[in-house]
Amino acid sequence: APAVVWFRDDLRVSDNPALRAAVDSGRPVLPVYVLDDSGGGSRALGGASRWWLHHSLAALDASLRKRGSRLVLRHGDGAAEVEAVLRRTGAGLLAMNRRYSHGEQEEDHRVRRAAEGLGVEVSEHTGSLLHEPGEVLNGSGERFAVFTPFFRALTAAGQPREPLPAPASIDGWEGSVHTEDLDALGLLPTHPDWAGGLGEEWTPGEKGAHRRVDDFVAHRLARYADERDLPAAEASSRLSPHLKFGEISPYQLWHRVQNADAPADIRTKFLTELGWREFDYDLLESHPHLDTVNVHREFDAFPWADVDDRVLHAWQRGRTGIPLVDAGMRQLWTTGWMHNRVRMVVASFLVKNLRYDWRLGEQWFWDTLVDADPANNTAQWQWVAGSGADAAPFFRVFNPVLQSQKFDPAGEYIARWVPELADLDAKGRHEPWTVDGVDYPAPIVDLKRSRQEALDAYQRMRD
Ligand code: FAD
Repeated sequence: APAVVWFRDDLRVSDNPALRAAVDSGRPVLPVYVLDDSGGGSRALGGASRWWLHHSLAALDASLRKRGSRLVLRHGDGAAEVEAVLRRTGAGLLAMNRRYSHGEQEEDHRVRRAAEGLGVEVSEHTGSLLHEPGEVLNGSGERFAVFTPFFRALTAAGQPREPLPAPASIDGWEGSVHTEDLDALGLLPTHPDWAGGLGEEWTPGEKGAHRRVDDFVAHRLARYADERDLPAAEASSRLSPHLKFGEISPYQLWHRVQNADAPADIRTKFLTELGWREFDYDLLESHPHLDTVNVHREFDAFPWADVDDRVLHAWQRGRTGIPLVDAGMRQLWTTGWMHNRVRMVVASFLVKNLRYDWRLGEQWFWDTLVDADPANNTAQWQWVAGSGADAAPFFRVFNPVLQSQKFDPAGEYIARWVPELADLDAKGRHEPWTVDGVDYPAPIVDLKRSRQEALDAYQRMRD
């Protein structure tokens, strides 16, 4: 009777506690992945995430085969497909790493009940987060509403456990069970194939993740604290999609950086960002509808502007006439990723200058980011909009021109992504409207007036 490992956002063989439990059970191991196009009570994956998933599943299958096993692919409702596999194979054990959105937890509850009904032992593990949501609490036994004390409490609990090595070999289950063909799952775009830029930028899979970490620790970590806010410097790790799909675990990353040859304050800066991921997941677990419902419900009354589709499209495709916003949106469209500072600027521009509902921006990011994350994306959009936990106050409106002068002083990042401005000097790159004859749109909105209108709208909400 095999041990079935249900892989989800943990597409790796090293530091995978569910896989480890299956191997240690002494049973032959049967790894399974289920693609549920509807998202299975959670959210359906966006296009860029589907592209990533295709390649990540191929990488996981190759890695399992090298060890004597293989990945069985199924298509449909996750809990129902896994139940069918358990029945068909007469499995004795079901192992999985925990998930944290409301829909995922419901699905896991369903599969647990089904397994128990079949007399199959269920083994669940913490593999994707450094803590279990709801476990890090303040002195009154409540969840933290603010990041800094949350992170202090998380780290006060001691060092995260050491990562587990990958099993050198896996005793693969030899029986026959239906498996889909990866290509037939239709995860890749066809007409048009917009994924060319993604393929140039990324190597999905566990090996690609570890190559990124090596590169980050060797060449970027030393600059991280000083330069992580400069989009042209490329000083951040770009591990977000690898973390999202669980190709590397936060335990592996934590210890790798903690043990790196770099000053303590730099290492702490990086580990704090990993802490934000933990904080966002805690919020997701306690706010089941984080992608649609404001954490601070007073924002339910916010007077959003009516949407003009042409304006929304200009934002999506980087044609707003505001250089830093356009550079970011084009980086996103081409590579499936955007620098954190620029994410904050484009989000603020949509929510405050255009006064469009943050959910419209969140949805576009969800579809186009390779790291589109059910916790981080929603929590960070709400953070920018002012409606989230420990959020930036709404009245702090970024000026995207001042932001680009401060964080991209030479306009290098702008020149890279908005080539029609590359021939201008720095001032022209930040303010192309001061230069005659440039083939670039005029600003789609007046920054000063729209800022005031946003503040007035906020005041109306408060009244
Ligand atoms: P690094 O600076 O190298 O950080 C390492 C890791 O820490 C990241 O990979 C990520 O897992 C975590 N992290 C870093 N910054 C944050 C943060 N502010 N909040 C939560 N976790 C963080 N991140 C996502 O992973 N998925 C998303 O869908 C996402 N959507 C965002 C939307 C908006 C509007 C904003 C402002 C931020 C969003 N972020 C999201 C957070 C952040 O921008 C990215 O995690 C970061 O840019 C990824 O690049 P990196 O891996 O090089 O980051």
